[in-house]
Order: sequence, then C-alpha cells, then structure tokens
Amino acid sequence: MSDPTTSATPTPPERTDFIRNIVREDLASGRHTHVKTRFPPEPNGYLHLGHTRAIATDFGIAAEFGGVCNLRFDDTNPAREDPEYVQAIQDDVRWLGFDWHDLRHASDYFGVFYLGAEKLIRDGKAFVCDLTPDEVRATRGTLTEPGTESPYRERGIEENLDLFRRMRAGEFPDGTRTLRAKIDMASPNMNMRDPALYRIKHVPHQNTGDEWPIYPMYDYAHALGDAIEGITHSLCTLEFEDHRPLYDWCVDNVALHENPELLQPLLDNGLPNEAAKPRQIEFSRLNLDYTVMSKRKLMALVNEGLVDGWDDPRMPTLQGIRRRGYTPSALRLFIDRLGLSKQNSLIDYTVLENTLREDLDGRAQRRMAVLEPLELVITNLPDEHAETLVFPNHPKDATAGEREVAFSNRLWIDREDFAEVPPKGWRRLVPGGEVRLRGAGIIRCDEVVKDADGTVVGLRAWLDPDSRPGMEGANRKVKGTIHWLDARTAVPAEIRLYDRLFTVPDPDDDSDGRTYRDHLNPESRRSVQGYVEPAAAAAAPETSLQFERTGYFVTDRRDHHPSRPVFNRSVTLRDTWMQKEG
Ligand code: ATP
Ligand code: MG
Repeated sequence: MSDPTTSATPTPPERTDFIRNIVREDLASGRHTHVKTRFPPEPNGYLHLGHTRAIATDFGIAAEFGGVCNLRFDDTNPAREDPEYVQAIQDDVRWLGFDWHDLRHASDYFGVFYLGAEKLIRDGKAFVCDLTPDEVRATRGTLTEPGTESPYRERGIEENLDLFRRMRAGEFPDGTRTLRAKIDMASPNMNMRDPALYRIKHVPHQNTGDEWPIYPMYDYAHALGDAIEGITHSLCTLEFEDHRPLYDWCVDNVALHENPELLQPLLDNGLPNEAAKPRQIEFSRLNLDYTVMSKRKLMALVNEGLVDGWDDPRMPTLQGIRRRGYTPSALRLFIDRLGLSKQNSLIDYTVLENTLREDLDGRAQRRMAVLEPLELVITNLPDEHAETLVFPNHPKDATAGEREVAFSNRLWIDREDFAEVPPKGWRRLVPGGEVRLRGAGIIRCDEVVKDADGTVVGLRAWLDPDSRPGMEGANRKVKGTIHWLDARTAVPAEIRLYDRLFTVPDPDDDSDGRTYRDHLNPESRRSVQGYVEPAAAAAAPETSLQFERTGYFVTDRRDHHPSRPVFNRSVTLRDTWMQKEG
C-alpha cells in the first residue's frame, strides 16, 4: 500500500550528478520510458567498500526514477568462482538496504551468447583463430603500431561455423583456438583489434556443469547480458571506458533486440524477451587511503592468514566493516556525500570514519564501559550501600528512554582517568583532587593503594554528599567528569580494539620494493578484558552503542552473547590519526 498522502518520508533533495542528469534527459526526451539498471559482480570474492558505490548507484538511480535494478552474477570464469560468494553478495546487497528486481546469472544466457556468436560468424564478423595465446599477444601490435591480421582471419563462413561447433562440442583442447571478432587490427583502441569472444575451457561450471567446454569473454558476455535484460543505463567504472566501443560493437552487431530468434534458449528457460539496446556510462572508482581494495589482494590477506578471514573487522569487505559496526545508513550517506564523477581520486579514510560517527551519534544508545579497570572504593558509603540511578539512553533523543544503573561503594573506573603525576592540562582524577562521577556526584581521591611493586591497584575516595543528584551542590563545578561502573553488578566483557589495517596512506604503492604486506599495522587488533554495565551486556548481537567518553562499539555478530559479551570498537569518538600524523 503506497498512498503518498500517508507517507511520512520527506522527499529528499534531487541529486544532480552527471549520470542522473543523463537519465533525466533520456526520460524527458522520450528516448527511454523507464529506467533499468543492473549490478554485475563477478562471484570470485566478497564485496568491498568500493562496490558500495556501484551498488548505491545502480540500485539508487533505478529506485529514484521509478525503475528497477537486476542483480546479475557475471559468472563467465568458472575456475575462479564459488557459490559461497554468490550467497554472500546477495546478503551484502540486502544488508546495504537494496533489493533486486530479477536475480540473473550470465550463465543463464550461455545459449543466447552462443547463437549470437554463430550469427556473427554467418555475417562474416567473427572467425575461429588457431593462434596460440602467445602468438595472439605477439601480433596485437602496440599503442603506436598496428597489429598483424591473423592468418585465419579470412577463413570461409562454413569452415568457421564448423570449427566453432566443434569447439562447442568439446573436440579441441584448452587454448588451441578462440573465436575472435573481425573488427580492425589497426584500431588505435587495442580492445578493437580482433578481440577474442570465446575461449576453450574444459572446466565445469557451478551452474551449467559440464555442458559448456567454451566460455564467452567478459566484454561479449557483459554487453549481451545487458541487452538481453533490456538494461537502459549500464553503469560501470572508468576502466571500462576503453571497452565501450567493443561493448557497442557487440550490442549492435548481434542486435538481439532485432533478432528475437536468437533469444529462443532464454524463452526455453522460461525467461521473458526483454531485449533492448543498452548504453554504457562510466564513473570513477572509489578508492580509500589506508586500504587495499582489490578482491585479489583481499583474497591474499585471507589466504596468507594475515587477517582472520573475509569478515575480519579490519577488512574493507562489507562483511568485515559490517562486523566492525559500520551501518548501512552510514555507508549510503558516505557514498551520497562523495557523489559521482569521472575523476579518480583517493578518499581520506577520515571521511568514512566521520560519517560513521555522525550516523551513530544520532542512533547509538549510551552506555558505560571500563576498558582498563581500576578499583575505586568510596569510604563514606557502607559496604551494603546499593542504589539505583536513572540515566537517559540518549542525551539528544528522549524517545530512546532511560535505564537503571546500579551504584555502590565499590566502583570500577578507567585506569586512564587517574594520574599520580598528571601531565599539563589534566582534568581527570589526581591524588587529593576532585572529579565528577557521571550522574552520581563529586568524589575526592584521598588515598592511592599500591602493591609491593608500587603499581597502583586501587583508589579510596570521599563522595561529597551535597553533590549527589537532587542535592543543592549537584551542579557544583569541577574540572572533569569520568565514567564508572558499579563493581558488584558490572559484567566482564571482551573488548576488541580495532584500528586501521595499514600504517601508510597508500599500501598499494610498491615503488620502494615493499608491498602492502609490509605495511600491516601490528596494533590494528588489540583485545582487552574490561567491564560493561548489564544493559550493555544484554544487547542483541550487532547492536551499536556509544561507550561514554570512549567510542562507538558494536556487539560482535558472531561471538557476542549476553552471558559472554564481546564488543568491537567501530570507531573512536574523535579522530586520533590526524594528530599522530601531524
Ligand atoms: P576488483 O578489482 O576488486 O576485483 P571488480 O571490478 O573486478 O573488483 P566486479 O565484481 O567485477 O569487481 O565488480 C562489480 C561492479 O562493481 C562493477 O560494475 C565494478 O565496476 C564495480 N566496482 C568494483 N570496484 C569498485 C570500486 N572500487 N568503486 C566503484 N565501483 C566498483
Ligand atoms: Mg572483475
């Protein structure tokens, strides 16, 4: 039921990047009457932060213009692909808040691709080439010199058809022949120099089994896949700009929209004829500093045991940053803010972190947690003192409600909030000094308890009775406020303190002979045993909370259990990297 008069969602401001402008013009001019896009991942790894730009763009633009977006697995490389990735990619897209119109695989179209190739042969636009891969490379020419035509280029149509059918029948070993487009060996665009359309590969496919000993090349399969689905705007990253002439060549020369007989295998599979002529538009990739973002490198990190798997909270995979506590809304906001352009750039990691802080500030409930516990005994309260204080869950959002927080004479405070010899400008607790315990009153540190080695093991303090909540002196000014926990009811918790995985802004830069492996941050994962208040421990897995004065944390979606709480630090409250660098 979508009655616009009852919908409370305000219309967001209209976005005007170059792609949305093209779509708008196409609709205004009548070139298109609807919008259809697709997101076409290759299922050879997990999605990463870079993919969020493609996903948000493909799905977002379709939704904004009342259109639809397909999810299409570009599964034309059976040796590298795995059903595990197919499932994870679907989960990730849904988690980001998007849903697809049709779920398709390039392999659904193998029959159509094949008929399209036979049509190209019959039209004299493709030929079977017997050159080895090395020979093809050697005859391709260079950017400044034209290539050499294959000696097989002028093969007759019947011979080509016969050889291609035998390729398809599995008669020839891998690498012995290819089907090549007959375009132009002198083209300044290397992609147009009689590119391969099909290669022989006796590798079973996760969807089609042993049915196909030949597989289509990416450019051919991608162009035809878009045409088959009737994609109006095929959005992709800039590295495909040089491939666009070949994309158009495939679309125009196979011309599925004008040759419905080629679509018969699709109809036989129960899929509709939606063929139309698509248009490719390129935008810049999203690159982030302090990160590597190619599936190949992320795979190496996992396989070499340098991280704890694809969903290690330090990984830029969606599974990783999700576990780290990044929210779909923060990621969508991040992508929106950066906008779309044709200029490649390296985005400052801090921009991503600030977007998360902003998102969580508004939504994360506040709790108290102590990462490095130091016992503090209040000397003027009896041992049996047990009190319940009421705290707002969110300082700016009354609808988040309140919670009860226990208070007694035995507390945990953070070791970091006490200094025997304070540095200049210190506002927290010192021997003889005063500090406010958040929401409970003002204490004065009267005694520092040490063990035989001289290590501070506890503090004894006096609580000013007149500073308690509701008392006359409750608002008395003191320099600092610290958080605390009631030691009797606090719940022990594992708190994982994550940081950036790399120590340098451009880990991909290997010009000094060092690779990204040499720039791993040894302090990117530290785990401490601390305490949290019971209301934090009780949270469901994957709940974001702000630990007051400490940072934003999330209950680990794998390991957290209220009886055994595990928190991941999503981001500190303030940026600490700028200071380190400066
Ligand atoms: P990788 O190089 O990391 O393996 P890919 O480009 O091979 O990535 P695909 O699965 O082919 O990954 O990508 C699916 C879609 O996501 C493509 O349209 C691609 O252009 C887009 N994409 C991939 N990486 C980025 C990125 N960093 N920024 C924006 N879009 C991206
Ligand atoms: Mg790829």
